[in-house]
Amino acid sequence: MTIQADEQQLERTREFVRVQVAPDASRRWSERQTSEEVHLAAGSAGLLGLQLPASVGGVGVSFACKAQVAAILAQADFGVAMSLINTHNVAEQLFRLAAPGLAQRYLPDLLAGRLSACTALTEPSAGSDFAAIQTQAVAVPGGWRLDGAKTWITNALHADLVVVYAQTRVGAGAAGIAAFVVQAQRAGFKRSPGPAMGPVSTIGAGGFELQGYLCREDEMLSPPGEAFKDILGAINGARTYVGAMCCGMVSEGLQVASAWGHARQAFGKPLHGHQGWRWCLADAAIELEAAQLLVARAAELIDAGRDAQSASAKAKVFATRMAQKHLAALMHAMGAEGLGENYPFVRHLASAQVAGLVDGSTEMLLERIAKDFKATASSQGRTTP
Ligand SMILES: Cc1cc2nc3c(=O)[nH]c(=O)nc-3n(C[C@H](O)[C@H](O)[C@H](O)COP(=O)(O)OP(=O)(O)OC[C@H]3O[C@@H](n4cnc5c(N)ncnc54)[C@H](O)[C@@H]3O)c2cc1C
Repeated sequence: MTIQADEQQLERTREFVRVQVAPDASRRWSERQTSEEVHLAAGSAGLLGLQLPASVGGVGVSFACKAQVAAILAQADFGVAMSLINTHNVAEQLFRLAAPGLAQRYLPDLLAGRLSACTALTEPSAGSDFAAIQTQAVAVPGGWRLDGAKTWITNALHADLVVVYAQTRVGAGAAGIAAFVVQAQRAGFKRSPGPAMGPVSTIGAGGFELQGYLCREDEMLSPPGEAFKDILGAINGARTYVGAMCCGMVSEGLQVASAWGHARQAFGKPLHGHQGWRWCLADAAIELEAAQLLVARAAELIDAGRDAQSASAKAKVFATRMAQKHLAALMHAMGAEGLGENYPFVRHLASAQVAGLVDGSTEMLLERIAKDFKATASSQGRTTP
């Protein structure tokens, strides 16, 4: 990984957004489209192989670059950003964990955007409490039989390939959970109608049922005991890039509101000429920069191979709340105009709500951060009750 490769990838991402994402963002919203149609172009722009080495067709950039890519994509469309990164993440997981034959079978098509993919943990009866999933994997001759249902899964409306997390031993909790590679075309896989996602339709969220779905032995991606640990490792990255996406959306909101404030006249001068109006831009700019610094710190720890659990949780909580607060304020500063489908505010605000749930909700992350405060011996002579 080199600084030059990172910079080239950021430039390619800006061009991809300029040509493929930004011009159609409003149309995709009004037509309730998913991001399936941009996968091919994303493959050509290297976006589906960010963290894979050139030897398998990836571009091998740093994690910090991946986070910046996420921010640039989300500036135009958070749903597109999430959709592409979820396909990317399955490719990366296959490269890292799958038996060579399995990885070779799917990687070229995933990296080129000819296939889309998703990662399915959440179920109708288990969201935050992931260890309580009910989807069962039962050993059968030559492999595993999967039965259960998943819901609220990014890309599930069109994914060709799914990494499914399932319980191999009833009552074993996290220790019994394994990950399997599932093909949407195979018997036993049935998509369920997706929830009407309105302004975030490009995320392609939906569900599916598995009824007697048969996985071969080599399609177990991560065995019981390993799968839960692996997902917890990967989730620090996810929390960091979701935080980056929130920064991207607020950065876009700031630019749009600022331009409007200089053009729109009220009481004989531009809105921006009124002190009470322009402070809202300043407030947003301060907290945006603070969020960007937290995201950059978490990304730096990830690139250095250091523990990023707490840093990524803090970055996501702060950036998500920052986006929820300032996108609403900036939209208000636009007056009625801010509600228009030709502006990003309604989409971005709904997206900030999604950001507060995916890859660990705000409350789950606060719990994670609170774990840093362990019982300690009294210091400086203070006694504890
Ligand atoms: C658009 C979208 C895309 C998604 N994509 C994916 C995906 O690709 N793959 C996937 O597996 N999942 C995905 N999810 C699901 C997401 O991970 C879950 O929404 C999340 O884990 C929360 O679960 P839940 O919605 O079932 O809420 P619940 O777990 O039912 O929680 C409801 C509320 O209660 C709070 N809460 C729960 N427990 C506690 C507690 N102990 N203390 C305090 N508060 C608590 C939560 O923070 C939340 O605010 C997606 C969700 C959305 C909306």
